[in-house]
Amino acid sequence: MTGRVYKEPAREIPVYDECDILVVGGGSAGHSAAVAAARAGAKNVILMERYGYMGGDVTGGYVLMVPKLSWYDKSFVRGLQEEWFARLEKIPGAVLGPSLAQIGTSDPALLNAWRSIHGCVSESEPKRLVRAVYYEPNQLKIELDKMLLEHKDAIRVQYHCWCTKPIMEGNEIKGVVFESKEGRKAIYAKTVIDATGDGDILWQTGAPYKELADSNTRSSTTALVWRVGGIDWNLYYEWQKANPEASGALYAGICRIAGFRCAPIPGSKYDWAWINNWHADRDCSKIKDMTETEINTRSTMREVLDYLKEACPVAFRDAYIYDIAPQLGCRCSRRLQGEYVMTPADFALAPKFDDVIAWHSTICMINDCAPIEIPYRAMLPKKVENLLCPGRHISADDVAIDWLTLIPQCVGTGQAAGVAAAVAVSDGTNVRNVNIRKVQDILVEQDVPLPRHPGVDPSYTQCCQEHEYGLYTELAKKARAEAESIKAYRQW
Ligand SMILES: Cc1cc2nc3c(=O)[nH]c(=O)nc-3n(C[C@H](O)[C@H](O)[C@H](O)COP(=O)(O)OP(=O)(O)OC[C@H]3O[C@@H](n4cnc5c(N)ncnc54)[C@H](O)[C@@H]3O)c2cc1C
Repeated sequence: MTGRVYKEPAREIPVYDECDILVVGGGSAGHSAAVAAARAGAKNVILMERYGYMGGDVTGGYVLMVPKLSWYDKSFVRGLQEEWFARLEKIPGAVLGPSLAQIGTSDPALLNAWRSIHGCVSESEPKRLVRAVYYEPNQLKIELDKMLLEHKDAIRVQYHCWCTKPIMEGNEIKGVVFESKEGRKAIYAKTVIDATGDGDILWQTGAPYKELADSNTRSSTTALVWRVGGIDWNLYYEWQKANPEASGALYAGICRIAGFRCAPIPGSKYDWAWINNWHADRDCSKIKDMTETEINTRSTMREVLDYLKEACPVAFRDAYIYDIAPQLGCRCSRRLQGEYVMTPADFALAPKFDDVIAWHSTICMINDCAPIEIPYRAMLPKKVENLLCPGRHISADDVAIDWLTLIPQCVGTGQAAGVAAAVAVSDGTNVRNVNIRKVQDILVEQDVPLPRHPGVDPSYTQCCQEHEYGLYTELAKKARAEAESIKAYRQW
């Protein structure tokens, strides 16, 4: 920043449209919010997205894996998240992962069949199959549009519109201002759902928020994912098993060459992989950090690929750069400090919430990846009215945010935000005073299992009571040891 300022002259802005529910951001949270609102009866919804497709990180960012949808033999995460896969399963090569019918099984043949695909077999004993799904991003882009088209009478989609600020009247948000090829315009709305992932609207409303998380966390890393084609994942897995030392050296080697941590991860077919990466201490809302992530990743890709071919020719001999994600991989920047702030205690002690809106399996080892409850208040801002903030900028402390930004949690909170907004509009109230029982009933009708709800099979709640998890289990000790090893990543 130079310190100089330019005084922008005041001007009148045309009002482009008006609606009941405005969703800003078409990522997994925003897309789910719009679809869920329409299915809950909302008739006048606008979904605004700065790029030309839906999905955000999950399509444009090439985050191509949804982990931990089940625990033991129960699929705790369903609703719109499972609908994605039910639709994609009809398309050859679009998804890979154990089926719903297979979860929880300890059948050795099935465990063996899925062992090469990260996350499909449980960490804890006895080993069992877990619903973890890998998918093809372009197929998902197509499917997400189709889901919106099915509700075209209720949802108006606005691609290529970049929201820049909220319209405030006192502590109430009344709409937003956005930029487009048609210039700067305004939209008025009864309820605004900020699903930008970076709190682009919320931080300008006066609602409390925090910036980048603890620098040791996954959340404070950015990425530019790219894909490698022409490989054989099964051969790579066999090679890793037969050559553990060489495999460790390969991993260290690509991190050293890149200058940041990176790792190959399987795709929806065995002939390509995505190269996930983690640029430490980067904020995906800062121009400099975003620019450096793009340039540093692209400028090292060829060398990383050459090294993979040399270190593991059996799997990578014919490998090539298949493509580069169209958009930056954003994990976390600004995040809400709302009416409820989630902390590690919510994972270790699994409190029960009357306003639970999602029950989510997590990647948090201190609770053996058991489902935890997310309260509605974790997406409800303090001080500001008519605003909800689902998705990766959910209200959490510096540590818990690492376990709350997975795709299922973004879809789940987005779905709940959409239903809550629809109920508030139809009841003539606002999202702070919404009838939460009604919201929960509609979520269950939309195939979201909620704990203790009379419409949900009680064996789900029992499953969480029967199995031990929490701070003092063996797995939690292992998780703490692994957390220590995060510091070692910095050496690469
Ligand atoms: C590299 C990487 C690897 C990951 N790995 C996994 C994994 O393996 N499994 C997993 O479950 N999760 C993973 N995650 C996390 C997960 O992908 C994200 O947290 C999740 O997809 C975020 O969804 P969202 O809808 O909250 O945000 P986003 O996907 O970021 O969506 C926000 C949307 O809003 C739009 N937008 C933003 N600002 C504006 C604006 N001002 N105006 C208009 N539109 C706007 C964006 O273009 C985007 O479409 C990973 C994340 C990254 C980056």
